[in-house]
Amino acid sequence: MSDLIEIINAELPQFQCGRCDTPGCRPYAEEIVKGSPHNRCVPGGQEALDKISIILKTEALMLDNAYGPEIKPQIANIIEEDCIGCTKCIDACPVDAISGSANLMHNIISDLCTGCELCIEPCPVDCIELLEVDEDQALMSRNQSEYFFDLKIELNQRKKKKSKMNKSILENLDLAQSINQKLKNRNIDKTSSIKKLQLEMLDAQKTEKFINISDLEILKKQL
Ligand code: SF4
Ligand code: SF4
Ligand code: SF4
Repeated sequence: MSDLIEIINAELPQFQCGRCDTPGCRPYAEEIVKGSPHNRCVPGGQEALDKISIILKTEALMLDNAYGPEIKPQIANIIEEDCIGCTKCIDACPVDAISGSANLMHNIISDLCTGCELCIEPCPVDCIELLEVDEDQALMSRNQSEYFFDLKIELNQRKKKKSKMNKSILENLDLAQSINQKLKNRNIDKTSSIKKLQLEMLDAQKTEKFINISDLEILKKQL
């Protein structure tokens, strides 16, 4: 089964664009092996589809253009002076081809960009343009995109784990603070109730004449 997934994946064009309604090319190959229609990769075109039909030994299918359009050989480019550093494009890029930090200008790593267009729509200031490149350059990025796609998934998982850990650290801190507060409150009560008890005992000793009044006043001050 996993061999079949890899054989089908090898025929997919590796844009990692998600147009087939799965997050990337290998996930689509997995869905095909599970029985999903194999005619949804419009960027791969009829040629890739025919090869997959032969691999699956099924009758020839026509591309389902509802999953289109095709993708030209292209890369994204950020118009630097307009970028507001919101990081939305970084989150959208399936192959981690965008560098930058919050509130700083972002850049596209052109050797990694597959031209998938996923960063275009989320940009709130419309400052990402597409530049045509030759087929060789486009192929170079796509040939290595699977590695960076996997890396991005791992990064996202780590980010999720980290934010989960941060969340539980914060929750624990909150809990610790509220316990501390309760202990503090209780200590205050304890101190005052002990003091009250001691005063009562001293007063009782005074009543029973076990202690003289001046000693009693001195002791009270020491409490
Ligand atoms: S290139 Fe895009 S549409 Fe084709 S399989 Fe890969 S992710 Fe899906
Ligand atoms: S930079 Fe944009 S176009 Fe290039 S791979 Fe990332 S999301 Fe796709
Ligand atoms: S989405 Fe647009 S504005 Fe936001 S960081 Fe990316 S390029 Fe800059």
